[in-house]
Amino acid sequence: MVEKVDPFESAQKQLKKAINVLKMGDDVYEVLKNVAEYLEVSIPVRMDNGKIRVFKGYRAHHNNMRGPYKGGIRFHPDVNISEVKALASWMTWKCSVVGIPYGGAKGGVVCNPKEMSEGELERLSRGYIRAVGDFIGPKKDIPAPDVYTTPKIMAWMMDEFSKRKGYNAPGVITGKPVDAFGSEGRDEATGLGLYVITRELLKHLKLDPKKMTAVIQGYGNLGHVVADRYDKMGIRVIAASDSKGGIYNPDGLRPADIMTQKDKTGSVVGLRGTKQITNDELFSLKCDILTPCALENVITKENAPKIQAKLIIEGANGPTTPEADEILFKRGVTLVPDILANAGGVTVSYFEWVQNNMNYYWPKEEVNEKLDRIMTKAFRGVAEIMGKYKVDMRTAAYMQSVKRVAEAMKLRGFG
Ligand code: GLU
Repeated sequence: MVEKVDPFESAQKQLKKAINVLKMGDDVYEVLKNVAEYLEVSIPVRMDNGKIRVFKGYRAHHNNMRGPYKGGIRFHPDVNISEVKALASWMTWKCSVVGIPYGGAKGGVVCNPKEMSEGELERLSRGYIRAVGDFIGPKKDIPAPDVYTTPKIMAWMMDEFSKRKGYNAPGVITGKPVDAFGSEGRDEATGLGLYVITRELLKHLKLDPKKMTAVIQGYGNLGHVVADRYDKMGIRVIAASDSKGGIYNPDGLRPADIMTQKDKTGSVVGLRGTKQITNDELFSLKCDILTPCALENVITKENAPKIQAKLIIEGANGPTTPEADEILFKRGVTLVPDILANAGGVTVSYFEWVQNNMNYYWPKEEVNEKLDRIMTKAFRGVAEIMGKYKVDMRTAAYMQSVKRVAEAMKLRGFG
């Protein structure tokens, strides 16, 4: 039977495990196992055919003890409140593990942007902001892009929020285009951060990137940047996939060719010189590094025993279920968890917000250099905890972040 996993339950299990190792006691868990609050809204949108369609949207706040709530907005047909709550809590841990002064939030709208026109998407984006307008704000909760939301959508949302206020409020949202108060380097930040983590991991394990192969599941903005970075490091990318299927060539794929194929046809499938494979087959390919870059729950107790990669680096949020985690740990697979591996995006979001607040903008080199420093430090901190407590890297990352959040809670009197 295929494992049915509730993402918020997974998030709670991960938290509990870290709290147990830290011997922290129940009150911290009781506060942190739930989101602080969430909003469910209905968003009426006039569609191109003249009819009104009502979309369901959410925004969840998990914890703000270390700073304002922060996290993306997802547009996807499978969005549901459990997923949004899980993603909100993962944002708390992500911001804390890299040491940026934010809490965790997440939003989502149940919709399929692939079937919507640009006009419909704009009306939905503006409608979402009108609906959650009082729940967010530059000092309160700062959204950003996530699955299927883009810099352009962020610009519409920022504009709608600014209109409500009567002045430009660029700090309300991050991931905006550079010409609409965005930051240099934000577009590629998640991929660049993942590259820094990979580089540090290989150094830590004394592995030579030039002798390694990688498989990338999910070829959106993140998957492509990761493939490109791997390629530049000398890691051979041998397979890639998207929702329509995968492609494989043991001699290696060129990231630029994969992207051209995807741009031209809407999928990576069909790239000349590659063998077509299913997403299932992709997970069990012989390779060194497996990098999931799409959605949750793709590495499960069913396929975990078949994974041949020795390293898994989570570009997506929540790709591995807790049961799969146990199996992989026992099998000696090193897994870098989402909250560390993909924290580059929110880190540059933080830089964007700081620049918006100062109204003073930095060159790309400065952004990338600051990102590298933060990611490197976070990796080394987590690796140290992992060595000291002999735990898997997810638990070590949680331990680092939960300790910081709990400390802030204690100092503030439990909020
Ligand atoms: N959606 C991204 C994430 O899951 C970015 C969030 C942000 O920049 O606030 O980390």
